[in-house]
Amino acid sequence: MHTITHNGLLHEDMKEWRNWLHQHPELGLEERKTSDYIAKQLESFGLTIHRGLAETGIVATLHGKREGKGVIGLRADIDALPILEKNTFDHRSKHDGNMHACGHDGHTTMLLGAAKYLSENPDFAGTVHFIFQPAEEGVGGGRIMVEEGLFERFPCDAVYGMHNWPGLPAGQFAVHQTAVMAAVDTIKMTITGKGGHAAMPDQTIDPVLISAQVVTALQSIVSRNLSPFQSAVISITMLKGSDASNVIPHEVKLQGTLRYFEAQTGDFVKSRIIELAEGISRAVGGEAEVNFVPGYPATINVPEHANYCVDAASAVVGVGAVQQSLPPSMGAEDFSYMLQVCPGAYIWIGNGEGLGGCMLHNDYYDFNNDILPLGASYWVELVQQRLNS
Ligand SMILES: [Zn+2]
Ligand SMILES: [Zn+2]
Repeated sequence: MHTITHNGLLHEDMKEWRNWLHQHPELGLEERKTSDYIAKQLESFGLTIHRGLAETGIVATLHGKREGKGVIGLRADIDALPILEKNTFDHRSKHDGNMHACGHDGHTTMLLGAAKYLSENPDFAGTVHFIFQPAEEGVGGGRIMVEEGLFERFPCDAVYGMHNWPGLPAGQFAVHQTAVMAAVDTIKMTITGKGGHAAMPDQTIDPVLISAQVVTALQSIVSRNLSPFQSAVISITMLKGSDASNVIPHEVKLQGTLRYFEAQTGDFVKSRIIELAEGISRAVGGEAEVNFVPGYPATINVPEHANYCVDAASAVVGVGAVQQSLPPSMGAEDFSYMLQVCPGAYIWIGNGEGLGGCMLHNDYYDFNNDILPLGASYWVELVQQRLNS
């Protein structure tokens, strides 16, 4: 393994930063202490920083010591989640109810580590923008930074992102050639019938029974309308009918999530959801109204840039430890908005098994401090390889 922290000093710095960030989790667009902390570190490395994109976002710029026209952006997300942390270790959250349960504290730290190392060793030709992005969890800070002119103010030839991945062994990376994270839309549906006494169902049009048939029928879309080689997920997760056991409600509200990779798959599945909900409801005298609230688009790597990431990760852990055939995740990621306007790639860094194999967003989640040097080294390798060739 080839890391930038042979003497361990930078690793000690990074552990300290990571533990501080874990203790001070802040939610999307409210990351004020976090942003101040990041800014303080970056300024101590002698970097020029720009603040204010998406409220709490920071972009730090570093020029290599050799002449070069290349410019790349490296992005880390900085926000936490509204989860009450159950861990009892010393670096547990001091903000009760908020928690870094997605490892963004680690992402921020690895990018800070790379920024510090590269500031001291600017052995490359060109420019690096270190992008610290707020509000990945639901708000879409990535979209806001792009809309507020991230790439107009800081034009990049390419932009790269990285997420820690529990279950992938520590010491490994995973790179996808194209799709890596899914697109997400929220399904919102109202099924209307005719309410009445539950003991006299013949006097009603029961929207609960219609809803049950719709929910069941929706599961036939992926299994019977999509090719087995196309991917989508439909999960209906909320059903709200009447508040009493003896009342058939007038209407039922349903919500759920839709995931897919290709826009045309998403459009097709949405049209089938509408057809089934409306058709089944109408057949028994009811009505359905279906809406889709668009979420993040799919995160799609550009193969050329995925290959650059493979090369950089291989230089750190060896090519045998860079997984290249893992399936993509049905989770979503707002780095997708950056990739829509700038070519690049998004990779996973193995976080190891974690406590009881615990997954992202779990109230026991903890980013693995042992992988900090690997992630920081990957960023450094990527800069040196991309801006010296
Ligand atoms: Zn998350
Ligand atoms: Zn995350």
